[in-house]
Amino acid sequence: MSLIENLKRKKVLEGEWEIEEIFQILNSEEFDKICKWADEIRQECHGDDIHIRGIIEFSNYCNMNCLYCGLRKDNKEIQRYRLLPEEIISIALNIKNNYDIKTIVLQSGEDDYWTADLLSEIITKIKSEGDIAITLSIGERSKDDYIMLKKAGADRFLLKQETFTKEIYRGLHPNASFENRLNCILTLKELNYQTGSGIIIGLPNQSVKSIANDIYSMEKLGLDMIAIGPLIPNPHTPLGKFQHGDPIMTIKTLAAARIITKTPHIPATTALGTLDKEYQIKALKAGANVIMINFTPPSVRSLYEIYPTKNRFVMDEERIVMETKEMILAIGRKIGKDRGDSLQYHSKNQI
Ligand code: SAH
Ligand code: SF4
Repeated sequence: MSLIENLKRKKVLEGEWEIEEIFQILNSEEFDKICKWADEIRQECHGDDIHIRGIIEFSNYCNMNCLYCGLRKDNKEIQRYRLLPEEIISIALNIKNNYDIKTIVLQSGEDDYWTADLLSEIITKIKSEGDIAITLSIGERSKDDYIMLKKAGADRFLLKQETFTKEIYRGLHPNASFENRLNCILTLKELNYQTGSGIIIGLPNQSVKSIANDIYSMEKLGLDMIAIGPLIPNPHTPLGKFQHGDPIMTIKTLAAARIITKTPHIPATTALGTLDKEYQIKALKAGANVIMINFTPPSVRSLYEIYPTKNRFVMDEERIVMETKEMILAIGRKIGKDRGDSLQYHSKNQI
């Protein structure tokens, strides 16, 4: 019997995963079997719905200096922008009213200009317009800020740890704290946000062992969302000359995350799609059940350059939404009609 079939059989009997077993999956050459296993679990937990999320990148100012990211403070090559609060609100309402997308992701660099007060006003206004979920992806903040934003109506928060190995983290984040980031994730959970984290595949000094530890750690955190994307080197950063993360390893990691954590929402990340659209489709067939569409205005979209995108031509949003929906239907899946809240979160709040 193959290693994967063996593990699969064993896991019917005992649920707890050991890091060594996760390592075995990641190290295995049985890629198709791993993807199929993950796809079965995705089907059991989420059925065929794929949830579309609309993302608005509202500011590219950032105080941090993550070695891989184009928005890092020391990158003087990009022009910085901030959308106006009214613009953010009107884009959010366009996403909801014209495309029937029920989750808005608000993402930015770590930018103090956006106080919790200002963000709360924006969130309150969007939420007053109907049934719409708001996910924030704005980095590390104080507990008081997280409390205020939750009160204003934010439902979810994405804060990728990027790696759960402290030494690797330290090498990539000057003047930042591994512990603080992890504590932020714990605080978000405590405050009842639907909480997401994730990792980058292809970071310097990363190994299959460390990725196994990442998945193990994310399982222990009991996350509602998990994002896994490949490193895309940005020439304006210290990691500019690095190789991009291996797309096959990225998909394998995503599949293993689905097998081990089961219920979280897992996107087929935009970074995977940047390497090749086909990889995003592969991810959707290997455990992913979410896809994001970018609604940042074309006038500033090319400035939100975390990593370089091959396609500098900005397609109009109507076409992107249409093509995304066609792609979902073409692989035999359905377009999620509800907000796509966390499964665990629902059960947690029913008790
Ligand atoms: N500033 C916030 C949110 C914006 S960055 C934060 O850091 O949490 C969103 C994500 O982009 C990061 O979590 C990181 O995983 C990803 N990212 C940054 N640079 C990247 C690169 N060069 N390749 C792939 N992903 C990258
Ligand atoms: Fe800033 Fe986020 Fe980029 Fe780090 S990853 S430099 S925090 S935008």
